[in-house]
Amino acid sequence: MDSRKSGRRARACGECSLCCTLLRVDELDKLGGIPCVHQDVGEKGCSIHAERPEICRAYRCLWLSGGLEEGDRPDRLGAVLDVVAEGPVVRLEIRESQPGRVEAFARLASIAEAYRRSMPVRITDVGDVLDPDRSYRLLLPGGEEHRVQGEWTEIRKPGQSVERRRLPWLERRVRRLLLAFRRFRLRTIVSRSQGLD
Ligand code: SF4
Ligand code: SF4
Repeated sequence: MDSRKSGRRARACGECSLCCTLLRVDELDKLGGIPCVHQDVGEKGCSIHAERPEICRAYRCLWLSGGLEEGDRPDRLGAVLDVVAEGPVVRLEIRESQPGRVEAFARLASIAEAYRRSMPVRITDVGDVLDPDRSYRLLLPGGEEHRVQGEWTEIRKPGQSVERRRLPWLERRVRRLLLAFRRFRLRTIVSRSQGLD
């Protein structure tokens, strides 16, 4: 997203512009998983480079920040990775460019395996970008995996049968309110991007 800007840094985005497709940019009413209208997959990377939003200037994925190996640039991995903190929980976020990319690409799978030993690894993909209730997966230590779909979570542990849990009543109510807000927001963004309001 930002990158071709500095000779001081050890790494530069180069030909990569994957975050300009996979990430949300509120300032542009851009949804995650949809290429930015300013994305220039040629030399420039961003056609409004000098005027790009602040979030684009500030963003540095894990690789650009110096994490991972030199050869793990996101466009080669097929996923954008970030270490994010949400309250007291720190996790690795993997945004796949295609569903199933983690399993399909051995290097990405080995990164996920290494990180899950020390923090949860959350995997999302670009499918159903207009669904605010998209499913996601959470990889935990010891081979445990949670598949979260709406109010339900499938819990898979090695050697055990799959357990299904529903969110408690109060959390379901809060979640439904949040979802209604997100759906409204998505409709607004889509209308704006189509010039309908
Ligand atoms: S995903 Fe990372 S390396 Fe690629 S363009 Fe974005 S910040 Fe740069
Ligand atoms: S404005 Fe430029 S840097 Fe920001 S998402 Fe779009 S193409 Fe990427």
